[in-house]
Amino acid sequence: AKDLGRNRFHYFTPSMQRNAKYRMRLIQDLRLAITNQEFELYYQPIVCLAQTHAIKAEALIRWHHPKRGVVSPVEFISVAEETGLIVEIGDWVFQQAAHQCALWREQFGVDVQISINKSPVQFRDEGNSVEAWIALLKTLDLKRNDICIEITEGLLLDNNEAIFNKLAQYRAAGVQISLDDFGTGYSSLAYLKKFDIDYIKIDQSFTRNLNTNRDDFTLCEAIIVMAHALGMKVIAEGVETDSQRQILSDAGCDYAQGYFYSKPVPADTFETTCIKPVQE
Ligand code: C2E
Ligand code: CA
Ligand code: CA
Ligand code: CA
Repeated sequence: AKDLGRNRFHYFTPSMQRNAKYRMRLIQDLRLAITNQEFELYYQPIVCLAQTHAIKAEALIRWHHPKRGVVSPVEFISVAEETGLIVEIGDWVFQQAAHQCALWREQFGVDVQISINKSPVQFRDEGNSVEAWIALLKTLDLKRNDICIEITEGLLLDNNEAIFNKLAQYRAAGVQISLDDFGTGYSSLAYLKKFDIDYIKIDQSFTRNLNTNRDDFTLCEAIIVMAHALGMKVIAEGVETDSQRQILSDAGCDYAQGYFYSKPVPADTFETTCIKPVQE
């Protein structure tokens, strides 16, 4: 592109150059972030609408960048996926979540089921991670259902045997599987017959307008009925108001997650707000 005549267009406009530079910088910084321990997991409670005391939480990654402050996963997960760095980051997420689960059991005598997000890229490029993950669960003496893995519909779509086998390995080791962002990805439901899924997470775009939009309500209700008929539990995401909670509870939804209960918070905050109160 350098030798292009002055009347030809340039491949990189100044602003694209800045973006390419920004991107390269981001990749460099991401590579250092694990070594420098700049990542932290935040935890958001997943609340049982029937009020039993089992505690669940979704682990959500945060990056404390030395210069740019807290960077949202929305900004770096896709770059981590494109560069393959997500495999290393994802291994760290899993190890961190598993250790946290063991620590909470030791400190508070409580089993908190921790859900982690696992990108389709990890399933493709991770080598022997599945065996290593399962080995760590044994080492930490974690119980059945202590860890849940959130996957997205796209992963199941190509009906791939390797994916099927990995998910079966996890489930045999007592790891549960959630289907994240349900309803936003693909229209085929055929994969629900083939794969053993424990939870369906209804995407925020359906719960957001539950109290005002009849169609959204109908869709939520239908997802709940279908999931239960197939032996799955339902988690509604993005629950922000008490009226959303009430509607979902009346519709038979099993769990809810969202700002109505709590934003994702650091582990120590999660302990004081979600674990200790249960002990009383
Ligand atoms: P997600 O898995 O769908 O996670 C839910 C997102 O919704 C989180 O954003 C959470 O903070 C936000 N949220 C929770 N409750 C509410 C609510 O009531 N209202 C609204 N408006 N938002 C709510 P977050 O933490 O920024 O994460 C964004 C996405 O980044 C996640 O979406 C997930 O796809 C990805 N991500 C986060 N952590 C990880 C990770 O450790 N590994 C991978 N592969 N992806 C991750
Ligand atoms: Ca998720
Ligand atoms: Ca989600
Ligand atoms: Ca999402």
